[in-house]
Amino acid sequence: MARVYNFNPGPAALPLEVLQEAQADLVDYKGSGMSILEASHRGKEYGAIHDEAVATIKKLLGLGDDHAVLFLQGGASGQFAMVPMNLLGEGQSADYVNSGAWASKAVKEAKLIGKVNVIADTGKDIPTRLPDPAALKFTPGAAYVHITSNETIAGTQWKTFPKTDAPLVADMSSDILSRPFEASRFGLIYAGAQKNLGPAGVTLVIIRKDLAERVSEKVPVIFRYKTHIEDNSLYNTPPCFAIYLVALVARWVVKNGGLQGMSKRNADKAAKLYAAIDASGFYKGTAVKEFRSDMNVTFRLPSEALEEAFVKEASGRGLKGLKGHRSVGGVRASIYNAFPPEGVDALVAFMKEFQQKNG
Ligand SMILES: *Cc1c(COP(=O)(O)O)cnc(C)c1O
Repeated sequence: MARVYNFNPGPAALPLEVLQEAQADLVDYKGSGMSILEASHRGKEYGAIHDEAVATIKKLLGLGDDHAVLFLQGGASGQFAMVPMNLLGEGQSADYVNSGAWASKAVKEAKLIGKVNVIADTGKDIPTRLPDPAALKFTPGAAYVHITSNETIAGTQWKTFPKTDAPLVADMSSDILSRPFEASRFGLIYAGAQKNLGPAGVTLVIIRKDLAERVSEKVPVIFRYKTHIEDNSLYNTPPCFAIYLVALVARWVVKNGGLQGMSKRNADKAAKLYAAIDASGFYKGTAVKEFRSDMNVTFRLPSEALEEAFVKEASGRGLKGLKGHRSVGGVRASIYNAFPPEGVDALVAFMKEFQQKNG
């Protein structure tokens, strides 16, 4: 079997053990005589998986009964709209931090629903950076404050989260479960699964239950958090197989030291790559050091031609998916939870060799 090192930004690498377990159980799930792909979402086999996925995520994040864990569809992009549809009432405004490409999409959607105050804007800054969380000026009476915990394209990550009076809402698509943080302090967290949680097709939403009561009767039932809380995300058919994989990935996170374990694994991987970049005098990191992401390591080479050659040659060596996002160019190594440390060692070795030949 030839597995490559998969640096894709999302959908992204999954733990090999998880894929193997899913493979072993694919045709006959635990003696049920059918695949979980074919099972009823109301049946006991699927029900047990669904509840395990919810319970494991709650436990990993230290959440109590005030918060609900939901599995929805429509991706993080769907949440850009669903958050204001539910939380931004008539005559209210919401505070948004524009930290880059993803945050600005969230802003754009929210503006279609209500009044948005962009309270800090680092979206176009080069080198890429984030605002100082302690220096943010919030709007009194804001319905909520929205941030993007990790800007997947820019390669920036909040190291500490702002303290807010209004409920704090975060798009954590590209760093959920990658490190410990005080999740109970958040009003709402959402994440497309395809980076750190599982395959594409399911979106994790964590919401403080009382906030779901804000929704207007004019919002269609399917787009209300309240609906999905009341029905444990089984109001309509959920993406069962994707949620099953999320359950397996969450189990894998627990087995590998929980969020502390993930944090150490991720910090070690990222530190090795940033050290190689900084020591090279050839590669140049694109993010201001204090905001560097442990998930998406972005860097440039001396020319676009060299970047193209780098990505191509790396691919030929089984180091796949290193091309930077089309909007910014450069190189991006996405090294989410499941990405193996050996893959980072292989990339560092390749970087040295490429520099020797081309530097
Ligand atoms: C990938 C990503 C998204 C978009 O997710 P979809 O599930 O494709 O809608 C949104 N926000 C961030 C931070 C992302 O990394």
